[in-house]
Amino acid sequence: MITQKNNGEHPLERSPAGRHVFGGHPHHKGITPQGSEVPTHRIFEIDLSDPTLPFTSPDLRSLPLYYPLKYGSGGPVMQYRVISESEIQIIHMDPADPDDEDWAYVQVSEFPEVRFNLLPAIVPGQGLPFSAATLGGTVPYGGDQECMNTACPNHGSSAGCELLATIPPVDIEGHEGIWHEFEGGYLFFHFWYCRGCDTIITANRCT
Ligand SMILES: [Zn+2]
Repeated sequence: MITQKNNGEHPLERSPAGRHVFGGHPHHKGITPQGSEVPTHRIFEIDLSDPTLPFTSPDLRSLPLYYPLKYGSGGPVMQYRVISESEIQIIHMDPADPDDEDWAYVQVSEFPEVRFNLLPAIVPGQGLPFSAATLGGTVPYGGDQECMNTACPNHGSSAGCELLATIPPVDIEGHEGIWHEFEGGYLFFHFWYCRGCDTIITANRCT
């Protein structure tokens, strides 16, 4: 269960001792969509014990943010539930089939593991560099995704969705080119959760 504490927008800053992890080995069970052999990518693992976070969970220590970078020619939509510290369950995937390997928007199967620290919330309206990854806040241009969990009271609606994370294709020094087709793109990978069922909802948006 995830609970929003406030809607502050917190930038992530690269730090060797940071508690939030970008990339790394996608180790959770359930990260490969049914009928496919191409796993999704671990974009971030959020340490939920960080008191700075604008959201919390009484029963999870960490929150994995996965995105299907090798699907949908750069524009896939995925929704999943976090079952435990070691397992997710994909409940919605569009499209369900991966891109041809030669045409996939990224070529690597996992990103280097890089640590980030969470900074205090910015003052509302304060501009951030485009390259800043953030946790919390709201999507300024709307377009929240609808919950696709048929067992959820908010099924088919985006009314119960809260933003968890906004991640641009961040430059990782020493690992240039890892974003391949996404490299330098003006887009964000967004992660929401649905208050009705805790489903993680993810999609990207061009700015
Ligand atoms: Zn829901």
